[in-house]
Amino acid sequence: MPTEAVYMDHAATTGVHPEVLEAMLPYLGPQYGNPSSAHQLGQAARRAVSDARERVAQVLNCGPSEIIFTSCGTESINLGIKGIVKAAGGTGHIITTAIEHHAVLHTVEQLEREGHEVSVLPVSSEGILDPEQVRATIRPNTRLISVMYANNEIGTIQPVRAVARIAHEAGIAFHIDSVQAAGALPLDVRDLGVTSLALSGHKFYAPKGVGIMYLREKTKIQTQQQGGGQEHGLRAGTENVPYIVGIAVALERADRRRKAYNAHCVELRDLLLDGLLRALPDSRVNGHRTERLPNNAHLSFRGVEAQAILMGLDLKNIYASSGSACVSASLEPSHVLTAIGVPREYIYGSLRLSVGEATTREHVGRVLSHLPSLVRRLQALSPVAAAS
Ligand code: PLP
Repeated sequence: MPTEAVYMDHAATTGVHPEVLEAMLPYLGPQYGNPSSAHQLGQAARRAVSDARERVAQVLNCGPSEIIFTSCGTESINLGIKGIVKAAGGTGHIITTAIEHHAVLHTVEQLEREGHEVSVLPVSSEGILDPEQVRATIRPNTRLISVMYANNEIGTIQPVRAVARIAHEAGIAFHIDSVQAAGALPLDVRDLGVTSLALSGHKFYAPKGVGIMYLREKTKIQTQQQGGGQEHGLRAGTENVPYIVGIAVALERADRRRKAYNAHCVELRDLLLDGLLRALPDSRVNGHRTERLPNNAHLSFRGVEAQAILMGLDLKNIYASSGSACVSASLEPSHVLTAIGVPREYIYGSLRLSVGEATTREHVGRVLSHLPSLVRRLQALSPVAAAS
């Protein structure tokens, strides 16, 4: 990345923090043992994994036996959802929401193809689920409720504790996708009241390719891959020791810094939003005003294409995202923006700017000095914007 670049895409991924890298390095070098080996090198690796598990369990307020290390958020989600739904044999019913990440939506679609029933609940125009709708959708054969803690596009925070209470009263397992929440929201699983929870290292300054799954003790689960007895027999495969060490350090660090991180992000995010709304008063902010991740700004501009905005920003070394599945090859807008009813003339011009630890006021200033004029230039060329 050029030194003068402005990275506004922390919801897509974050860089590995030096403190995390330093903790990982011995296990990428001389401490290369296999935790299943009985000799000293193997046992040192085993201790590193056990220590990482203890640290993660401490942050999540659970027992180490309830922590399973995986390869990513997607794997944790697949294991949690498929594992719990399939454990009872036969088929059952699953409840989820229309704004979940594809890791959840495509997983439940697969279960539907296998004969399970799925209810996909709508959300409000601000992107929030009504827990009472969950209650009303429960059937005698409901096996699992899966709701994301925070949305990856518009940053809305879901009322997961209220859903957990409803799930608990009905005796139904409750899974949450916490991939975007890590670093910003509390992850105490006892307080959240969840059965399982998924995390992904690369969203909180650990490397890509490592994830965490919390699974409440005594929960019946069907494993998703066969092999050795690693991870309490629930996730076969030799442990990725350096990455496991890294994700534990990163999670501890994120938990320790949460208050300061959130204050930093809110200040810069609001500076960005206020500046953009002042310069482009006919733009829309998507999602909820207060129930949203501190680092997320998601806007739509009338009559323009997100791809053109992103290319214009990229030329100025400003990296952002449309925050949607709207790729140039497909003219389909994001399922999240469709679910919250963003008007047609706005939906294609949607932009996600997500700040992070290293974002500065100067970075925000750079965005404010380029983005409004870029959007106005594009709107001047757009028949939709001209029609307003
Ligand atoms: N869930 C959410 C909300 C996400 O934002 C992401 C990644 O962007 C995932 C799941 C998938 O995580 P991973 O990239 O680790 O597979």
